[in-house]
Amino acid sequence: MKIIKNIDILRNTINEYGENKAIGFVPTMGFLHEGHLSLIEKASSENDITVVSIFVNPTQFGPGEDFETYPRDLDRDARLAEGAGADILFFPDAREIYPIGASTFVEVEGAITKKLCGSSRPAHFKGVTTVVNTLFNIVSPHKAYFGQKDAQQLAVIKKMVRDLHMQVTIVACPIVRETDGLALSSRNVGLNPEERKQALILSQALNRARNLWKTGETDVKILKAVISDGINTMPLADIDYVDILDFNTLEAIKKIEAPALAAVAVRFGDTRLIDNIILE
Ligand code: AMP
Repeated sequence: MKIIKNIDILRNTINEYGENKAIGFVPTMGFLHEGHLSLIEKASSENDITVVSIFVNPTQFGPGEDFETYPRDLDRDARLAEGAGADILFFPDAREIYPIGASTFVEVEGAITKKLCGSSRPAHFKGVTTVVNTLFNIVSPHKAYFGQKDAQQLAVIKKMVRDLHMQVTIVACPIVRETDGLALSSRNVGLNPEERKQALILSQALNRARNLWKTGETDVKILKAVISDGINTMPLADIDYVDILDFNTLEAIKKIEAPALAAVAVRFGDTRLIDNIILE
């Protein structure tokens, strides 16, 4: 596996593989775990060349968020990425991605970026779509792999690709969880042992709502209350949002009549966790 920091070298290296090679791309912010590795393994099984990027993107962090403290470990990441089948690890610095004076952004407007994480992180998705668009321009992938863990990000990126007729297939990958149900996240290392224990409530509360929905309850208000009440039993949990929305558009719904997304964001101390399930 080659580790490359420079855009021209990356493009030349990809070209050296020859023409008509299928390029799979997995963008990440690093500190890799089994969730990331599942994306890399899938990309590697479906493409000739698998490019993984590690870039903690400053423009998707708001003031006071965890950009500075976001966990980083390139050596470990390189070992894991290679083991999962990556051919190229693209590890640019911010100056490489955002040249001096850069002032161009890609923004998906509307409810899809205003709800859920968009309401407490107003500039977040503009940063995400700008950097993903930039990375797509650099790597020119045929397929790009994203986790359902970041369900809103996935929906926003799919919309950007559709709206702008971008020539890339977005592949959605299921959430990888710890054996006890906690969704894997690079941010989980920020949890102290008691927070880690209480954080289990995210998947448990979502599952409780799913079980109720399976018995025939479709009222979103009731299902949301089940989730919130469950999370609020944990004294260290501070809810950012609990919502159930149309799965494809992220529009508000009153009853579940088509696939729906139940999504939560909860703070434990300085660590903000997200999780979701699809009700379909
Ligand atoms: P991040 O490094 O957090 O930006 O994540 C990079 C990619 O990995 C995104 O597409 C995430 O949705 C995906 N990802 C993160 N955690 C998981 C997980 N637990 N299961 C599956 N995919 C994940």
